[in-house]
Amino acid sequence: MSNCAIVGINWGDEGKGRMVDLITRDHDVVVRYQGGGNAGHTIINGYGKFALHLLPSGIFTDGVVNILGNGVALDPENLEKEIEEVRSRGVKISPENLMLSDRASLLMPWHRELDGLEEARLADKKYGSTRQGIAPFYADKYSKKTVLAGELLYPEHLKAHLEDLLEWKNLTLRNVYGAKGYTMDDLNEWIEKYCEKIKPYVRDTGEFLKKASAEGKSILFEAQLGALRDLDYGIVPYTTSSNTIAAFAPVGSGLPGVKIDKIVGVVKAYSSCVGEGPFTCEWFGEEAEKLREAGEEYGAKTGRPRRVGPIDIVATRYGVETQGATTVALTKLDVLSYMDEIPICSQYELFGKKTDRFPFPAVLPEAKPVMTSMPGWKCDISGCRSWNELPKEAKDYVEYVEREIGCHIGYVSVGPERESIIFR
Ligand code: GDP
Repeated sequence: MSNCAIVGINWGDEGKGRMVDLITRDHDVVVRYQGGGNAGHTIINGYGKFALHLLPSGIFTDGVVNILGNGVALDPENLEKEIEEVRSRGVKISPENLMLSDRASLLMPWHRELDGLEEARLADKKYGSTRQGIAPFYADKYSKKTVLAGELLYPEHLKAHLEDLLEWKNLTLRNVYGAKGYTMDDLNEWIEKYCEKIKPYVRDTGEFLKKASAEGKSILFEAQLGALRDLDYGIVPYTTSSNTIAAFAPVGSGLPGVKIDKIVGVVKAYSSCVGEGPFTCEWFGEEAEKLREAGEEYGAKTGRPRRVGPIDIVATRYGVETQGATTVALTKLDVLSYMDEIPICSQYELFGKKTDRFPFPAVLPEAKPVMTSMPGWKCDISGCRSWNELPKEAKDYVEYVEREIGCHIGYVSVGPERESIIFR
């Protein structure tokens, strides 16, 4: 038995989904432990190309049980639609291979609306939310003012609870934002249309995991976004509203005492970032457009063009430490093949001094990248399947990154397909 977490080291979109899809075959259970339907994991396998938002990336692998843990923002509407869509493309989804924690809180219809209203109020100071309701959801969760999925199994209790919540939430919606508010009829329709459909998947997943663990089954923990978006350790306030780090995996999955044997930190061979906030290495203009095109950097959920730039060693080292990564998967190395020279941000300059340390969020906008570069390889590497097949320049780049971030690079990904991987 060996448990593994797959986590993002940077701003998200590092290619975690493709790594989970690859590594799932060595595990019995895959658990998503935080976040909601606000980002996407792109996966390409025998069933086709998918952008998963809530479903764990292990859903494609026969015999694997997929769990949405108690730390997840369980959005019945998005989940129901995603189950239907993925199922319509031939993937088997039933309560046998998908389980929802009865302790996961439900993302209510008003969370999505509040997210949009607050971003609109913030106007040019907006946080760059995907408006999927995640921040209002977690705020309410920590105020103990939302519903647990398990309450769907107790309709009388649920009705009374919803009436209380409705009265309270309408105060904010109407008096703060001047919105219409909700009625019990609205909520009954929401229950009927979405919650009833996901109800058969709800169960005590903590108990299931405890038993699976005792039987020696191996568990894969799947994160959303990256270390720099972690609520406590990321670039506040441009973070997400949950803890993306591996240390939270046991808490958010329903197995708080579990030991994680291996933490795979996923790093892109260059940088990309969606949304607002400081992004020290950002490229603009033609240079950025070329990299964006080469890496197809458009958001899986929103289609928004991602901000791009060279690899950021300072941020990546911080991400590796914060995640406690035991090994790194370097993805999208093939995307850099067009470059004559591979640019690298090796340090920051902050207040006139060079530094290796990732700065406190409030002063991060002052940091300037200190750049270096290495020779490019200028050939197609997407067919390489072993370390020795890679050109010397590509190997040199991987080894440089490895040395600088202080963590072994155990996987080098050279394409989006499941098998486009080099094990090291
Ligand atoms: P995630 O949220 O961390 O799973 O990342 P995303 O799915 O948002 O973004 C990663 C994108 O890169 C997806 O479109 C993947 O198909 C793609 N991808 C992953 N690894 C590689 C790789 O090694 N090479 C190329 N060219 N694309 C990759």
